[in-house]
Amino acid sequence: MLFNKVNLRSFINQNCALCQLHHCDTSGLCEACHADLPWLLNPCQHCALPLNLSCNPSQGLCPTCRRGDSAYDRIRAAFQYQFPMNSLLPQIKYHQNPVALGWLSEVFARWLISDLETPPQALAYVPMRPWRALLRGFNQSELLCRALSQKLDIPVLEGALKKIRSTPRQMTLDAEARQRNLLNAFYAQGELPRHVALIDDICTTGSTAEAIAQALKMAGCEVVEVWVLARTPQPRHLDE
Ligand SMILES: [Zn+2]
Ligand SMILES: [Zn+2]
Repeated sequence: MLFNKVNLRSFINQNCALCQLHHCDTSGLCEACHADLPWLLNPCQHCALPLNLSCNPSQGLCPTCRRGDSAYDRIRAAFQYQFPMNSLLPQIKYHQNPVALGWLSEVFARWLISDLETPPQALAYVPMRPWRALLRGFNQSELLCRALSQKLDIPVLEGALKKIRSTPRQMTLDAEARQRNLLNAFYAQGELPRHVALIDDICTTGSTAEAIAQALKMAGCEVVEVWVLARTPQPRHLDE
């Protein structure tokens, strides 16, 4: 496996994966680069959307979450989708650069441990249609999920969640079309644990999170969290 403890040890005495100037710690980064990452400091407590600093901090919710409900219980995101995340995550997804996923998953796992109250019983990943996985060569959501599973000692939900319908690429669609596009695209079956966390690299509109959370809850899950590395900011046309 790419991300086991042997590989983690190989970070020691190496240079920082980002600046290449200073020695890294066991996360793969130097202290300065770790601090400079675009940490998401003021997220909506439900969907992790970066909140405008003028928002009333006592409520902690974005306008959409104050108005409506969702199938997922909470999205947790470590970073804003800014540099270097907006450069690294597409590289991982489209250019098969799993090296960055090594230190990103380590930094993400440490952040999750510091932020977690009740650990889930299983981690799930966003399934792909088999031909899509074959074409791309790997599923970045699954790689991240398996890396976190090892680091957090939480099992992966195997085989229960399936993508049963092909869908057009989400990045070409607006929020409403994304939601329609994913309607009934996922299906969950079998004996499911009560509490599951879905792992993905980016959350843009939350449509994928919502569609998978619906499928998991219809199959019997009671609590579905969504853990993503990075959250994109609110598109302007969705602002209140
Ligand atoms: Zn550095
Ligand atoms: Zn929200």
